[in-house]
Amino acid sequence: MASLQPVRGTRDLLPDDCRRHRRIEQAAFAVAERYGYGEIATPAFEFTEVFARSLGDTSDIVAKEMYTFQDRGGASLTLRPENTAGVVRAVVSNGLLHQVPLKLFYRGPMFRYERPQKGRLRQFHQVGVELIGVADALADVEVVTLGADFLAALGLADKVVLEINTLGDSASRAVYRERLITYFAAHHDSLSPDSRDRLHRNPLRILDSKDEGDRALIAEAPLITDSLSDGSRAFFEAVLAGLEACGVPFRHNPRLVRGLDYYCHTAFEFTTDALGAQNAVLAGGRYDGLVAELGGPTTPGIGWAAGVERLAMLVAEDSGPPAPIAVVPVDMAQQKPALAVAQRLRSAGLVVDLGYSGGLAKRMKRANRIGARAAVILGEAELAAGLATVRDMHSGEQQQVPIDSLPTHLARLP
Ligand code: ATP
Ligand code: MG
Repeated sequence: MASLQPVRGTRDLLPDDCRRHRRIEQAAFAVAERYGYGEIATPAFEFTEVFARSLGDTSDIVAKEMYTFQDRGGASLTLRPENTAGVVRAVVSNGLLHQVPLKLFYRGPMFRYERPQKGRLRQFHQVGVELIGVADALADVEVVTLGADFLAALGLADKVVLEINTLGDSASRAVYRERLITYFAAHHDSLSPDSRDRLHRNPLRILDSKDEGDRALIAEAPLITDSLSDGSRAFFEAVLAGLEACGVPFRHNPRLVRGLDYYCHTAFEFTTDALGAQNAVLAGGRYDGLVAELGGPTTPGIGWAAGVERLAMLVAEDSGPPAPIAVVPVDMAQQKPALAVAQRLRSAGLVVDLGYSGGLAKRMKRANRIGARAAVILGEAELAAGLATVRDMHSGEQQQVPIDSLPTHLARLP
């Protein structure tokens, strides 16, 4: 029988991978908690409408990346491609909007039908935050600063650059939209089919195109900066001034737009040049129209999401799990007392390895192989006297230690 393979674009996370992911998720949550964010977990699938309404049908995600299926009851469901829509849906359906501001953190797997490549998977993981209910630019400052703190906590401050832009309010975008249509319509024949399709439906989306021909046109396209209302300009300046006050370095990139329909005002991305084409590690923006889109009262919001797999490729190796203590019965007759000793040491908080079979030589070999810090060797006569031999696996030194003092003795090993 042919052996079963994982689905293209999915990966097994083996213990080392999981440890990295956990470190990244814990760093994100620890920083978010310092800003007063609580964790929320929404289901991995939602009614398709949740995403279709919030992302809009001209988005890449809705147009070609969703895992959508009919369940046995005939409902159209979609595996979440991102978590902002789910969080906002949850906030509305749990009636949480009367206690704004809501500060929420999430983590978990997301699903997109994309062409798999380095840093681009069909099941990947994100951590993210949402701050719902604050229209002030201080919210933008807080959320971006939280992202910068998180990346700094991972030791990535020097490896990433914060690019930030404004998409303005809806009046500014309406002006910009017309200018973009005029510009791109003049180059209609050079546009990619996808972008031609977006020209009248959502010209801003063209700016996000990865097609090379499009990119050349985009480089010369009008900038949103020239279409901003006074209010939008002042808002953006307040955000930048706040970031300066927080000591967060940024680069204004007037060409940065976000691929989702509900974004307005602030859009930002932390990028790296260490990952090739998949250069965004953390991206987000303001989405003042989203809550209303999903059936709630008009409520502002801002958030970001970071790709855990991309971050995992950037962070330094960690020190690994703590080195274990090997408990080594000299022969099988001591296996039972060895079990009791192992239990005592584990209760004392030590990492303990106890083999399942074999004599002294085999077990010491295993102790070496697993990188044990020390071996606690239990022989018949010693056990009778309440003693064990502790072998320091680094120095090779051996010492008799009363079994009762083992936890303190072992905990003191450097
Ligand atoms: P890209 O331009 O790389 O497709 P995106 O704009 O689709 O990114 P977002 O929807 O903003 O990405 O998601 C936030 C973050 O999630 C990205 O910056 C990236 O780090 C990560 N991410 C997005 N899609 C994938 C994927 N298919 N595989 C791995 N990580 C991803
Ligand atoms: Mg994408």
